[in-house]
Amino acid sequence: MQAPASRSVYIAPSLPAALDALDEGGAAAAPFAGGTWIMRAPIRHEPLKSLYVAIGKIPELRAIKVDADAVEVGAAVTHAALAATLAELAEFDVLTAAASRSANPAIRTMATIGGNLATTAFAAADCVPALLCLDADVEIASRGGPERTSLERFLTMRSTLAPGRLLHRIIVPRRGRRTVHARLPLRQAGDYPTAIVSLAVSLDEAGHVRTARVAVGSVEPVARRWQRLEHALVGHPLNAAKATDAAAELAGEFTGRDSPDVPAWYRVRVLPALVRRAVAALGSGAVGDEHGH
Ligand SMILES: Cc1cc2nc3c(=O)[nH]c(=O)nc-3n(C[C@H](O)[C@H](O)[C@H](O)COP(=O)(O)OP(=O)(O)OC[C@H]3O[C@@H](n4cnc5c(N)ncnc54)[C@H](O)[C@@H]3O)c2cc1C
Repeated sequence: MQAPASRSVYIAPSLPAALDALDEGGAAAAPFAGGTWIMRAPIRHEPLKSLYVAIGKIPELRAIKVDADAVEVGAAVTHAALAATLAELAEFDVLTAAASRSANPAIRTMATIGGNLATTAFAAADCVPALLCLDADVEIASRGGPERTSLERFLTMRSTLAPGRLLHRIIVPRRGRRTVHARLPLRQAGDYPTAIVSLAVSLDEAGHVRTARVAVGSVEPVARRWQRLEHALVGHPLNAAKATDAAAELAGEFTGRDSPDVPAWYRVRVLPALVRRAVAALGSGAVGDEHGH
């Protein structure tokens, strides 16, 4: 087992300094955000990098900007800070819940949103499905300049992100939707979730679903949208029983991931119940409108 103490850490004072250090370090270097995943590398028998570039002191990576049409979240914002800032914005209930229910209070003051999205082997990350259902984009920084892409695309490229690049910020559009995050921990709070359903809907004047986004996390190795269920919801009133039936019919498209604590089939089996819980929470008016009322 390698001892983290034998590695070097550079505390970057600015984004250009971090990018320079990452670029010069090449494949032997990586960003260090909250460290909650990196610190467990020896337990997972993963090699540590020779150089970690700590990004937690860079002001622009710790900023959250709330505008009328979008919220921009710096990659080094912690789960706790994100949940506190978004608490009054009902349209982001899904993300507030993801950030405030993941892990435990101590971890949430350290773990960052960027680390949550960038960790390739972490299927149970709460913020990934939450941000997928909110149609989030991400901005990647490098010495060559910024590159903006959808979170969906980022998830397909993050494991091959070239050295010298880092997640700079997450951009979440404001569309005044009703949103909810339903997660099933195995035994108790603090556990990794067995399965996650994140949901965002907009309704027309008649109360029918106009747009729906459903994202599923922790069931497969990488979270993804459940587009067939989205289609099944659109055009109908929010109805928990009908949504549950549709989810039960469509759940076969998921191939659950196996793990020592949860069998693959179980992760798929619980999806209809999570969909029911999510739709019931929206239909009950438990979430407010875009103004938070
Ligand atoms: C006991 C425990 C339980 C947990 N339970 C949950 C849970 O239920 N749900 C949940 O969502 N999370 C949970 N987490 C937290 C989860 O590990 C972190 O949210 C996240 O995956 C890592 O965030 P971090 O900031 O600590 O990243 P770090 O450990 O600093 O980094 C993780 C990886 O991401 C890379 N990285 C970090 N920031 C960037 C960036 N800006 N750009 C590019 N790459 C970057 C690093 O190089 C590294 O490879 C738990 C953690 C622990 C320890």
